[in-house]
Amino acid sequence: MAVALSCAAAAIASAADTRPASQGPPRLAPLPRVTSPRLYVIDCGTLTYNRPEDYQLTREEVADTNMSVPCYLVIHPQGILLFDTGLSDSLVGRPLWENVDGGYGQIRFTTLRGQLADIGVTPADITYLAISHWHWDHVGNANDYAGSIWLTQKAELDFMFGKHADPVHLPLYARLAHSRKEVFEGDHDVFGDGTVILKFTPGHTPGHQSLYVKLKHTGGVVLSGDLYHYAEERTLHRMPKEEETSGTPQSREAMERFLQQTGSQLWIGHSTSVFRNLVKSPGWYD
Ligand SMILES: [Zn+2]
Repeated sequence: MAVALSCAAAAIASAADTRPASQGPPRLAPLPRVTSPRLYVIDCGTLTYNRPEDYQLTREEVADTNMSVPCYLVIHPQGILLFDTGLSDSLVGRPLWENVDGGYGQIRFTTLRGQLADIGVTPADITYLAISHWHWDHVGNANDYAGSIWLTQKAELDFMFGKHADPVHLPLYARLAHSRKEVFEGDHDVFGDGTVILKFTPGHTPGHQSLYVKLKHTGGVVLSGDLYHYAEERTLHRMPKEEETSGTPQSREAMERFLQQTGSQLWIGHSTSVFRNLVKSPGWYD
């Protein structure tokens, strides 16, 4: 069920690198050319945290209460999608104590922008930006990608710029107000061929979405967003108390069915036990 408010077809950039060398910033790597989708897992920071009770888990039940913060880049023959923007690049080199937000200590060792450059991608090359949801650990660099077409659930857009928006964190993504947008309600097939689909998984926030990517060799992968935080939430059936009545149980049930039907893996972004074992950018999955 898609309600496109602006047509983006004309703006889709080719994944082929056709720009003359004299244009734009100097490149360290050529823009990759692909014939099937390629998925990069980018380290967008770490959160130190020691209060798993917020997720109705005890310290003893969780192997590691700290959280990884990934961003993901999908290079498709028809364009490039950035999914989530992580913790702010401005945190690189800053001490942990300077940046504790709600009990979460934020650590960044490398910038998103720099890791994209290592792949051969500049912000101007990115056709689409999508975020799983508006929380600060997912939109830390959103303003840098406001020139891309923003793919958003209507419910999330309405919340982000509505009267209940969080004034402390709104500046992190304020420039998206001026982005070209594709606004939809429900699942959204990004390139129209079924290989890259934003899955509507409300509950954590009103318009939360996960990302399904169908890869030629790896198979189906779902990037969770914050549908789950800890892997133990999935095995022990726990969630933040307030999400019990906000849609998360239904979204999780639907997702588990989808994973089974498609034989897909679920990669829980904030789970260090999952993140540790993934191939990181500039390596990739295809
Ligand atoms: Zn998060």
